Amino acid sequence: MRLLLAEDDTVLRDGLTRTLQQAGYAVDNARNGSDADHALAFQNYDLLILDLGLPKMDGLEVLKRLRSHNQTLPVLILTARDAVDDRVAGLDLGADDYLTKPFDLAELEARVRALVRRGQGAHSNLLKHGRILFNIAGRRVYLDDVPLDLSARELGVLEILLLKAGQVVGKEQLAEKLCSWDEEIGQNAIEVYVHRLRKKLEPAGIQIRTIRGLGYLLEKAQ
Ligand code: CA
Repeated sequence: MRLLLAEDDTVLRDGLTRTLQQAGYAVDNARNGSDADHALAFQNYDLLILDLGLPKMDGLEVLKRLRSHNQTLPVLILTARDAVDDRVAGLDLGADDYLTKPFDLAELEARVRALVRRGQGAHSNLLKHGRILFNIAGRRVYLDDVPLDLSARELGVLEILLLKAGQVVGKEQLAEKLCSWDEEIGQNAIEVYVHRLRKKLEPAGIQIRTIRGLGYLLEKAQ
C-alpha cells in the first residue's frame, strides 16, 4: 500500500517515513502543501497523512482541493495539540481521522492501518482466504496456523490480491502500490514476485491466475 506523507518538519518526516516503511508501506514525501497537491493530482495513494501547518499551501487548502476533485482516499491529519479549530475544520473538510502532536508511533501505525484497511473495504486486520490467514497488523501469513516465509514484496503483492480477491489486478497497479518515487519496480519484477508467491501458496491450494494482457486474479475463496 502506498502513502503520501505531507510534513514540513524534516526530522519528523524522516522518522515517520522510516517507521511506515518498516511497517510495509511505500511512502512518498511532500515537504510543502503545493508539492502534496501536485502529487495527489497525478498519483494514486491508499492514504494521505497531512500536517495542517504546511508552507506554500496550507494543509486545509490541500484537503479542500482534494475533496473538491472527488478523491476519496482516506486522510489522516496531524495538528498541534491546542489547534482544536483546525481539527474541527479538517474533519469538516473530509479528513477521516486526526492525531495531535506529539503522538506515539504505535498509535500512528494503528490509525494508519485502520484507515488504509477501511479504504480498501476490509473491516479486520485478519484476512482469511481458504487455508491462509494474513495478519495485516503483524505482517505475517499463516497456512493452517504455520507461518509462511514471505519477503516484504511478496507480502505486499499478496495483501493487494487478497483485498481485491475476485478482481483482476494489473501489473502497473501492483507496481504503483508497492513502490515510492525513490524506487522503481518493473513489470518483470512483479512477475518474479508473483511466481515466487505462487510456489509458496501452492501447498495451500491457492491459485493466482494470469489474465493475459490484464493482470492477475486471485479467485474468491469458496
Ligand atoms: Ca508543520
